[in-house]
Amino acid sequence: MKTISKILNKALKEGRKYLLEPEAKTVCMEYEIPVTNFKLAKEEAEAVKFAEDIGFPVVLKIVSPDIIHKSDVGGVIVGLKTEKEVRDAYKKILGNVKKHKTNAKIVGVLVQEMAPASTEVIVGAMKDPQFGPALMFGLGGVFVEVLKDVTFRVAPITEDEAREMITEVKAYPLLKGYRSMPPADIETIVQILLNTSRLVMEHQEIKELDLNPIMVYEKGAKTVDARIILE
Ligand code: ADP
Ligand code: MG
Repeated sequence: MKTISKILNKALKEGRKYLLEPEAKTVCMEYEIPVTNFKLAKEEAEAVKFAEDIGFPVVLKIVSPDIIHKSDVGGVIVGLKTEKEVRDAYKKILGNVKKHKTNAKIVGVLVQEMAPASTEVIVGAMKDPQFGPALMFGLGGVFVEVLKDVTFRVAPITEDEAREMITEVKAYPLLKGYRSMPPADIETIVQILLNTSRLVMEHQEIKELDLNPIMVYEKGAKTVDARIILE
């Protein structure tokens, strides 16, 4: 809990309403929400070392308070398999960001494990002025963006409600496995929903939270991107 307060206070002191990805993922970890391994590199050589520690392939991402949608500015490069690819991607990302926003403040470059592709789900939370925190669940990509196949509950939710959320989206059958996709670990999704519910109930400073996407495997899951917006 102290870790989270420290992160939130630091953001507020710096006048930020968004947590940086490593901060948001650290908050998630405090509530046992599974995230990809990550390390924040401050220079190229460090990025190489972290990539070797984490294990190839890795993903590199810009960490900047001035950049919220990282891939929009060429700030995310996935599938890096060698030291050279990491070095090139490091330079490329900083170049891309500079081109897009000359004076963007750069905190560093996040090196993270590459989560294997799988069924993607999204878990969100947002504060309703009348009902307080509410939770959202859906399958990722076109299901949420095009079909708006999502479901909501007012927090806190019970385990039964978490299960209902999962089974009531139209895309639910996909979680039971299709074509080459193995069945998804529903129990892990239930736990993520319950832990997210606890997180937003216990930290009313959080205005919005977005775990998008979460890769769900036959066993376990990994949050690939986490966004948290403060009041
Ligand atoms: P943005 O700020 O643009 O939303 P993301 O962190 O979501 O940046 O990265 C963009 C996309 O890159 C993700 O939606 C996902 O498809 C892919 N990606 C990012 N990180 C990883 C990772 N660790 N493993 C696998 N894919 C990733
Ligand atoms: Mg994203």
